[in-house]
Order: sequence, then structure tokens, then C-alpha cells
Amino acid sequence: MSVKFIKPRRKVTRVFIHCSASDNAKHDNAATMDAWHKQRGWSGIGYHFFIRKNGQIERGRDINKTPAAQGGNNRATIAICLHGLLKSKFTKKQLDALISFCHQINDAYASQISFHGHCEVSAKTCPVFDYKKVLGLSASGILTFTVHDLLTVQEGGVDTYVEVHETAATTLRHGDKGFLVKNLQQQLTRLGYHVGKVDGHFGKRTRAAVLAFQADNHLITDGVVGSATHEAFTDAEPRHIGDERKVATVVSLADGGSRIADASLKGGGTGLAVSSLGIMSVAGQFSKDFQSLKGQIEPIAEPFGGLTTIMLVGLLGIVAFMTWQFIRAGKARANDHNTGKTS
Ligand SMILES: [Zn+2]
Repeated sequence: MSVKFIKPRRKVTRVFIHCSASDNAKHDNAATMDAWHKQRGWSGIGYHFFIRKNGQIERGRDINKTPAAQGGNNRATIAICLHGLLKSKFTKKQLDALISFCHQINDAYASQISFHGHCEVSAKTCPVFDYKKVLGLSASGILTFTVHDLLTVQEGGVDTYVEVHETAATTLRHGDKGFLVKNLQQQLTRLGYHVGKVDGHFGKRTRAAVLAFQADNHLITDGVVGSATHEAFTDAEPRHIGDERKVATVVSLADGGSRIADASLKGGGTGLAVSSLGIMSVAGQFSKDFQSLKGQIEPIAEPFGGLTTIMLVGLLGIVAFMTWQFIRAGKARANDHNTGKTS
């Protein structure tokens, strides 16, 4: 790594990946980009970082300044450009540098940041290579597991790289420690599953979060992160607030030492009792939710003459429907426990 990432003072929520659209060795540097962008009448290079074929990362535009890289989508972003045009000509060193650097950024923002290709916000094919696979991105651009640190990949361009990436998945379980566990915890946290402290230690809370994730994604609920669970992370959407609240109740009970809740997390036969608790807590939240929802909508509706009766009735309908969904989900889980489906 030739550059240490330091968070800028401005707000950043997204990182965009670009390619330079050239394989010419003479263009393999930030200085050339700077010259090209000046020709366009800009103040200078539009990207913050430039990754050369040899894996060296060069600084471009001041990180504290908004980039000029994704027209209409520059604010609150960081722009990274890799030198290259043809998919087959990006080097492993370059991609390794990209992965490490993106993880550095992700860590600096405690995973509260997403990664995207320029093509997602423009008609261009930039950055040409399959950045989603290389970085192991979820559908919403969240960094997922990457085992590159543990692998010795032979030199051979993107295709070989991606192949190795896809087939390798390290099983993680209670008691494991390190880089991959930390990634797992960040991933779970980002999706709304509480793991407590992101410390790289696969403890009781991380296991509880994995169990909840597995249950929500129709996986075998064994608390062990194998290939199927790894894969599910790639497409998993953040969990619904209702589910989060329900399971948070169970997890916090387990933390408090409740044997019933603990047994439920381990897939025991007391799921019904715990699910009932969950439903009760959701029901108790109902009136509170409605009040806060109304509170949030009222200021927005103010310029239009405030909330009308019809709007209120509609709002009430939505809340009632959501509550019904929560209760149904709770019942379904209780049912699963009874039939042994999730044990
Ligand atoms: Zn681009």
C-alpha cells in the first residue's frame, strides 16, 4: 500500500470506482489524468486516487474536495481510478491494491459507506472490469467477505482472480478470531443484526446475530458461517425494523442470562414462549410507532395544510398492516420451532 487513507473533513457516503480508459503505459500515472482533466477545463484531476498497473496508489485531487468524476453524483463521494481499458489488462497487483484500499476506507467509516462503479450512475461501462465480484459487493454496494488476504492467487488477470474469489469461502464459527470475523461483524451490523462490539471475536452475540440472519434468509440455523451463509450475504437486504426489534428482544434477553431466550437462540423447544414475548413487545410498540410516524410526517405535510383525516386513516392502515405482518412473522417462526424446522 503506497497510500494511507485518512478520512476527509467533508461528509462521504459513497465510493466510486473508475477506469482511465487507456492501457498505454505512458498514461499510467495521476499526472496524465491531471493533464487530461485540465484540458477539459477543470481545475485538475477529478479522481482522489489513481491505481497504477504495478499496484501503486497515487494521490490525485485533495480528498477534502468534492471529486469531478461522476456528473451529478459527485457530492459526498470518493473517486478512485484504475489505469486500464481492456478487462483482461487490469493486473492482480492493481486489484489487490483496490481491495486493500477499499477495506481501509470501509474500516475508517465503520462500514457505513458503500462502493459503486461509475456505470451505476452513467451510461458508461466504466470501470469495465467486474468490480462487484472483485470487491465482493452486495447488491447495495456493501463490502462483504473477501478472503484475498488468505489466498495466494497466481498472476493472471481478472478472470482467474474472480474465480478464486468465488470458490473460496472460509467457514467461521464461535471462538474464531481475526480479520474475517471482523468483516462478518461489519456485514451483520450493516444489515441491522446487532453483534455488540466489532472486535474480530466470534462470541455469543455474533453467534446470535448469525442465527437471526440465517433464520431471516431461510438458511440452516446452526450459527456457523459456511458457504451457503457466505453466499447469502452477497444479496441480503437490510433486515426489516420490525424483525430487528423482535429478535433484539430475544438477543438482549439471552445477554441478560435468560435461559429460555438462550435456549431459543440455540434452536430449543421454547421458541413459542419467546416468540410470544416478541409479539408482545411489537404490540406494545404499536401506539408509540404511530405517534412517532405521525410526528415525522406532520412537518412534511404542514405546507399542504397539515394532515387531513383521509391521510390519517391511510397512515393508520399502513401501521395496522405492518403490525399484522410482524405478528404473522412471529407466528411463523414460533410454528417453525414447534415443527422443528429451525432447530
Ligand atoms: Zn468513470
